[in-house]
Amino acid sequence: MSIRLRLTIWYSLLLTLTLGLLSIVLHTVLAYSLMTEVDQSIADRATQVEESIMAVVAARSDPAVYVTQGRVVLPPIDVFAAPGMYMQLLATDGTLVSRSENLAQQQLPLTPEAYQAALRGQTTIETVLLDDVNLRVLTRPLVVQERIVGLVQAGRSLSEVDAALARLRLFLTAGILLGLVAAIAGGALIADRALAPIDRVIRTAQQITQAKDLGRRIAQPGPPDEVGRLVTTFNAMLDRLETLFRAQQRLVADASHELRSPLTAIRGNVDLLWRGAADDPPARDEAVAAISDETTRMSRLVADLLTLAQADAGVSMICESVELDALLLDIYRQARDRAPHLTVRLGHEDQAVVRGDPDRLRQLFVNLTDNAANYTPPGGTVTLSLWRDEPWVRVDVRDTGVGIDPADQPHIFERFYRADKARCRAAGGTGLGLAIAQWIAQAHDGRIEVDSAPGQGSTFSVWLPLAGDDD
Ligand code: ADP
Repeated sequence: MSIRLRLTIWYSLLLTLTLGLLSIVLHTVLAYSLMTEVDQSIADRATQVEESIMAVVAARSDPAVYVTQGRVVLPPIDVFAAPGMYMQLLATDGTLVSRSENLAQQQLPLTPEAYQAALRGQTTIETVLLDDVNLRVLTRPLVVQERIVGLVQAGRSLSEVDAALARLRLFLTAGILLGLVAAIAGGALIADRALAPIDRVIRTAQQITQAKDLGRRIAQPGPPDEVGRLVTTFNAMLDRLETLFRAQQRLVADASHELRSPLTAIRGNVDLLWRGAADDPPARDEAVAAISDETTRMSRLVADLLTLAQADAGVSMICESVELDALLLDIYRQARDRAPHLTVRLGHEDQAVVRGDPDRLRQLFVNLTDNAANYTPPGGTVTLSLWRDEPWVRVDVRDTGVGIDPADQPHIFERFYRADKARCRAAGGTGLGLAIAQWIAQAHDGRIEVDSAPGQGSTFSVWLPLAGDDD
């Protein structure tokens, strides 16, 4: 069921319910007040009649006999002051003694309950049906000298009250029906207008899906209301999706490209071996060594790609205390062994503990020192230093190498970006080292800064938050 239909149904239901409740309350209040007015008029009239009879009967020596013999004459009823009012006097055995003229041959009914109650000295007032007309009848005992000598009955037709209430019911029912029709029409119109911008959003989204065009955006419908915010959010989501999608496309293209060159080299060397190089020991050794190098390069590339895939998947890192000075000492020893053509030095070294993943942090510093070694010509120097700078710790990897052009510096952390393509590939890098290093730094709530000038060397500074005292 569509939201439009649901809204209309709910709206109509609520309105009908409200109108229905209002009608019931109105009807009940009116019926009650009309009935109270009728009861009051009957009671007043009964009292008047009672008083006038008492005045006549009280003087008699035997009032009961006087009443029974039907000598009592009822006072005339003022038909203008009390329209539809009837009176009658009964003897204690329930036989009619006297009745008002407007009753003609009719008689006000006396129910057994009212009769019994009157004999007990109680007054009752009830609604009884007489010739299809509702009558409100009051029955009251006539008490003279503490004896019940007869029953006074006063009645009034409820036909006017019933007619008024019936008319009211008719009006209210018509009103509710009209309200229901108006609610359905109005509800459908309001739901239509409220949902029209959403329809436009849906249509545009469908067009984007059908055209496979992530570059399209939904036009803002107008004020920044809920729909406006939905469109803004949707467009922002499309921005993000487009960026991610493009990055993904670039990554796949770059990765295939990077994998192709070692594969071509391996293929070429295998061909050489097939064509007879296997029988020539120096040529064979050269081909096998080349194959081995390219395989290592490919393994590194695949490992780096896997690391970045983990980064993209938001894999959480281990979080333990890492003594950064000890880790750096290890890296220093390793770098010294791996780069005999350079002078690798330990500069300033404070003691510092950070919270993080020791393997990832090692990978971060290995990537930076490898780069420093790769882009520094023989005879150059690579210096590692560690500074405590509360609440941070800063690790500097400084080299006296080729440096980085300022135009390249903003891009070197991008995946597969290389400042000097030919030389870098020759240096054996994958173009992913700094992207991985930056991800690791950021995953530790840190950052990497670079300070470099062509021909003057580079300094990569890694800032990591120091572990608190309680860690
Ligand atoms: P690569 O595997 O090519 O080294 P990186 O992501 O580690 O990839 O580095 C990206 C680029 O940044 C490198 O290709 C290189 O041009 C430049 N670069 C990184 N470190 C240095 C450095 N210490 N000195 C000069 N250039 C550097």
